Amino acid sequence: MAIAITNPTTGEVVETFKPHSDDEVDRRIAQAQSAYEALAGTTFAQRAAWMHQAADILESDVDQLARMITIEMGRPIVQARAEVLKSARGCRFYADNAEDFLAPTTLGDPSTVGASAAGTRYAPIGIVLAVMPWNYPLWQVLRFAAPALMAGNAGLLKHASNVPGSALYLDALFEHAGFPEGSFRTLLIPASGVERVLRDDRVKATTLTGSEPAGRSLAAIAGSEVKHVVLELGGSDPFVVMPSADLERAATVAVTARNQNNGQSCIAAKRFIVHQDVYDAFLSSFAAKVAALTVGDPLDESTDIGPLATKSGRDELAGQVDDAVRHGATVVTGGQVPQRAGWYYQPTVVADITPEMRLFAEEAFGPVASVYKAASREDALRLANGTTFGLSSSVWTNDADEEDWFVDHLDAGAVFVNGMTASHPELPFGGVKDSGLGRELAAAGIREFCNLKTVWKA
Ligand code: NAP
Repeated sequence: MAIAITNPTTGEVVETFKPHSDDEVDRRIAQAQSAYEALAGTTFAQRAAWMHQAADILESDVDQLARMITIEMGRPIVQARAEVLKSARGCRFYADNAEDFLAPTTLGDPSTVGASAAGTRYAPIGIVLAVMPWNYPLWQVLRFAAPALMAGNAGLLKHASNVPGSALYLDALFEHAGFPEGSFRTLLIPASGVERVLRDDRVKATTLTGSEPAGRSLAAIAGSEVKHVVLELGGSDPFVVMPSADLERAATVAVTARNQNNGQSCIAAKRFIVHQDVYDAFLSSFAAKVAALTVGDPLDESTDIGPLATKSGRDELAGQVDDAVRHGATVVTGGQVPQRAGWYYQPTVVADITPEMRLFAEEAFGPVASVYKAASREDALRLANGTTFGLSSSVWTNDADEEDWFVDHLDAGAVFVNGMTASHPELPFGGVKDSGLGRELAAAGIREFCNLKTVWKA
């Protein structure tokens, strides 16, 4: 895939970039190594001041950055602005909390281990390589970079090839904010260049947000090098609606949960599992709201749904729906590629999905909702857990026992009750099963790339 900005609204190439040579990559790794060594002489307070400065820069650049995101990957401009501000909030969160999250601990009674004092300290580990996707081109990166830098690590970014504008902005951001030169470096390289970087001795760990095949490939290399890896991969999150739910609210939130970011979110609700007693009422309300979404130019403030980020992504989604229709599924609304320039797909609701259809097992990465009818709560749980993914989940019920039962039994990295899944700096984020390994955000996220050092003193 060429490293280029191609506007998905028009399909036109805006700018192409020459990939970094091996020599340039090596120079950037060396810069990151020097920065890591310089960061060792800094305090949390210094890094926090720089991180707040990075947040200030993001906030003051919000309009320019949001426009860049929208042109690079088609995100509706209102949502793109919110992404920039959320990224700034993530920086501030780690600026304010990193020291507490990484505070040393002491054993209450060290004599139990034969010591005069014992406990733990968190130490940085060095350079961490982040391989990142295009779908939240700032937020995905900042939620790695902010904790990594606050912990005293340096970061290298291999961003998705279709968002080089965001990648280069991030290359400069932390230096402008005051961090030592090279603390966070972008590598303009194709996916095939990642292995060479990860096998470099100076690179100590890696994190990848993206598809399952990419994650498996990176983890295999990390495994062979005995380097720590965090994987944030795909999802096919269930959105379970039970009879006691507030149906109107559930249907309204379901529309956003599925269609935010043009449906290209790992934690989007993708499979709507509805109890048979409320199935017809939910489906008609949900489908009517989906049909009312405004599809248009993502730079227009009133647009709900813009184009998909890539033509291949749009064609893949259309193929999944066509396959479902061929096998007998019902398209309740949408289901077509609109006749217009750009990589659009109509917001779509599909019902009567059966296991032989691709939509049953695969992640649908675009504005396509699959709706399933459940006979009971056990049946709803069976359908919800009947996926190889396990990122997040959402359950709608006003029955307190049922809430707890679903929280206990849903096999996912998160359960949101009567609300849609969202990432919050304050809460851990990550999946189980094929959705990934490890956690981002909150205290867990910053600790992933630290050496938890045990200290024992005679
Ligand atoms: P992708 O193809 O896996 O790309 C993601 C990143 O990995 C890009 O930088 C890509 O580089 C790189 N890459 C691809 N193959 C690689 C390989 N074999 N070795 C090393 N790097 C490789 O993913 P995508 O289709 O762009 O993004 C959508 C996927 O990301 C969806 O499955 C979505 O659910 C998932 N996602 C997960 C989360 C989460 O937090 N769990 C968040 C957002 C998205 P190139 O661009 O150069 O190919």
